[in-house]
Amino acid sequence: MQIYSFLFKWKKNCQPIFKKNVSLQSVRTMYVCSNQLVAGLEKTKKKCMSQIENKLEISRLLRNWYQKHKRELPWRESSDPYIIWISEIILQQTRVAQGMDYFLRFTGRFPDVASLASAEEDEVLKYWQGLGYYSRARNLHAAAKDIMERFGGVFPQHYKDVISLKGIGEYTAAAIVSFVWNQPYPVVDGNVFRVLSRLFAVDTPIDTPKGKKAFTELAGVVMDPEYAGWHNQAIMELGALQCVPQNPDCGVCPLKERCMAYGAGTVQSYPVKQNKTKTRDRYFHYLYINYKGKTWLSRRKGKDIWEGLYEFPLIETDRAVDFAGLQETDAFRRLFAGAGKLDVSVGLSGVKHVLSHQILYATFYRIEIERENEALQSFLSVPVEELDKYAVPRLIHIYLEKLE
Ligand code: SF4
Repeated sequence: MQIYSFLFKWKKNCQPIFKKNVSLQSVRTMYVCSNQLVAGLEKTKKKCMSQIENKLEISRLLRNWYQKHKRELPWRESSDPYIIWISEIILQQTRVAQGMDYFLRFTGRFPDVASLASAEEDEVLKYWQGLGYYSRARNLHAAAKDIMERFGGVFPQHYKDVISLKGIGEYTAAAIVSFVWNQPYPVVDGNVFRVLSRLFAVDTPIDTPKGKKAFTELAGVVMDPEYAGWHNQAIMELGALQCVPQNPDCGVCPLKERCMAYGAGTVQSYPVKQNKTKTRDRYFHYLYINYKGKTWLSRRKGKDIWEGLYEFPLIETDRAVDFAGLQETDAFRRLFAGAGKLDVSVGLSGVKHVLSHQILYATFYRIEIERENEALQSFLSVPVEELDKYAVPRLIHIYLEKLE
């Protein structure tokens, strides 16, 4: 009877929200349903809360680990967005150990936005020489000029302004605004992909738009927004030092209790990649032509690799050919028409140079000519001892080192 008296009361209180008078039976059904709903919501709420706490705990564990294990690096001492920007762009193409010298040299010569913006492009490329991806150096230069013009030389603080700069994508923008101003933008680089895919056993391929979106969302959920910069650096560092591609030492990982891949013994199955990138083979024949202490260079133009860098006269073939085959090409005949007797030696052969989507097979020939001919006038004549003044691709640099 007690339940009926309660239901009467409940009906009376709730009556205003009913359109018409309803039976006690209907009220009872509604009451039971609403109770189930409330219980269900409570359960969902509890589940959500425990998930949030779990994610915050992950962030806390990461930050603690970072405090103890982080590497001391010069850009970590800085809260200058320019310094963070340069370090991030350099680290996108090389490991910390190799990138350190480049960083110190580059920021030594261009210590701020203004000095970079006012430099000649040739000099910027020279300081970038050896790092590859020269479009990034050109973008740095263009963005520095843009900061001078649009923001009066002050590095912008808003994410939307930072990402509007040439060469700055989501990752770099998030790194700059979170490291410097603790803004809650999650970073997602290769290290973060690896940690998150293993931690939550996510098998969505990371090299697809769907994967990028899913991991960016996940990175945002795991990040404690109160400590965005600290968290971002910690998760990247964990990927670089602990959750490494091959044989991570999971036994000492701060996340091992929560890591789904570790728990399932499937660490090496993550991250998953679709790997649809095709590589293209190219065959380069470089001609280091010598005449009375001079040689010749040309500057690469167009949208192909190494735009703006210098190289020796180049003949590219669509397959591997030896010197006899090279001599048969129209390009070779045109280049040496009227140059007299050629004294040829092979400088370097079979050099395999791997770029992101291309594999270059290069041979360098040293060719002494008898006369300076007309074809060479379309190239830049350079005294041999001044070759090191020009910004050249890594591949040419390898040959120049051998010449020394
Ligand atoms: S337990 Fe192993 S796989 Fe999981 S996050 Fe740590 S290092 Fe990576």
